[in-house]
Amino acid sequence: MSATTTPSSEETALHDSHTQNRWFFGRRYANSFTQRVIEFFGIIGYFVCTGLCAVKMSEVIGGVDPLVAAIAGVGTFAFSFLVADFVSGLVHWMGDTFGTEDWPLVGPMFIRPFRIHHVDPKDITLHDFIATNGNASVVLMLFLGPVTFLAPTGWGVVSFMILTFALGMSLGIFFTNQFHKWAHEPEPPAFARLLQRFNIVLTSPGHDIHHTDPFRESYCITTGWLNPLFDRIQLWRKLEAVISSITGNDYSEGGKLNGYE
Ligand SMILES: [Zn+2]
Ligand SMILES: [Zn+2]
Repeated sequence: MSATTTPSSEETALHDSHTQNRWFFGRRYANSFTQRVIEFFGIIGYFVCTGLCAVKMSEVIGGVDPLVAAIAGVGTFAFSFLVADFVSGLVHWMGDTFGTEDWPLVGPMFIRPFRIHHVDPKDITLHDFIATNGNASVVLMLFLGPVTFLAPTGWGVVSFMILTFALGMSLGIFFTNQFHKWAHEPEPPAFARLLQRFNIVLTSPGHDIHHTDPFRESYCITTGWLNPLFDRIQLWRKLEAVISSITGNDYSEGGKLNGYE
């Protein structure tokens, strides 16, 4: 909307709701009230599950040799971030390639953000913490809660590794959009720049490949570690070919069918 046009009643109402509920809506929020509430409580629920998982980890680590626990912990945590990177690529590729924004639940929460992101890549840099990280938290809460509850406690270091993997993978996925946001920010926080410098999180040059024609490479957006491999073996093209042959729909043009370039 240009500065000279008159705001619509819808835009005025949105602005008013921001003014009246700044603590809840942040400085910029364009999704529905229902989605905002789901994301708000999703984040709280996810953090509660993370805390419960950490408590259980502290219980099972008691009988494990400290050196074994350290090696197993670091190795499992790194592996969990690799898996998180794969999940981020898979979800991103699906969001870019299949379905429409009006699909129930997954449309507004997962498909729409990816489509908008290609039209306006800088939009993500204006999202506050809830808008950035809320949608993933709902799914992660439903994953981490049951895993924490069901994980065996009597398997020594294996119990510790199961919980470390669940905690690490969910943390990686929870912060995926945060890492993605930092990759688009011209001046991310110093802590983010440090993580980017050591390739611990997604880097701007690595992610630029995805936003370059034909917009169909480097879908992984947690750490970006898997992008060179997946791009080289053409993983996403092969998966599109398989799904095209199964469904009879032609996905060989991938996201171009969605017209967001
Ligand atoms: Zn994309
Ligand atoms: Zn991006």
